[in-house]
Amino acid sequence: MNLDVQHVQSKSILTRTSGFLNGYTHSLNPYTGCAYGCSFCYVRQMPIALFRTESWGEYVDVKQNANALLEKELIRAKKKEPVSIFMSSSTDPYQPIEMKAEITRALLTTLIENRPAFLFVQTRSPIVQRDIDLFKELKDQVFVSMTVETDDDEFGNSSPRMPLRFAAD
Ligand code: SF4
Repeated sequence: MNLDVQHVQSKSILTRTSGFLNGYTHSLNPYTGCAYGCSFCYVRQMPIALFRTESWGEYVDVKQNANALLEKELIRAKKKEPVSIFMSSSTDPYQPIEMKAEITRALLTTLIENRPAFLFVQTRSPIVQRDIDLFKELKDQVFVSMTVETDDDEFGNSSPRMPLRFAAD
């Protein structure tokens, strides 16, 4: 399967949450689309995917200006309320191209300089390990959740959530 990777300019980067993300004020998506294309992904049924001509899993848009937008939008958002961010709601912030593009890494650097009340990072990618140094700086203000796929139904039903903790040196 060919992956269509485009570099795009986004209009905004922090999105007000609703629905199942009610516990957060904003979502943060460094990319549009997802190279992992999981069969169970709920984003397949969302307008953001349904209005594309390509199938889910076949495209990734790299938001080149994500960090410049975050620097501005975070300042504005924090003036209104404590900001808690879910990264990411409609992509995985650790796309394979993140190793080269470093969009998510740049966002984390900005979030260290101008901290939100809380940051939740959701991924299925081992690339997340690259940024452990940045998670350590965020300390208790970050929670990293990692999805591990299995075909063992019993494991899926009984496994506890195991947060990754990054102890300060
Ligand atoms: S990694 Fe996440 S966003 Fe990407 S296809 Fe899988 S479930 Fe969807």
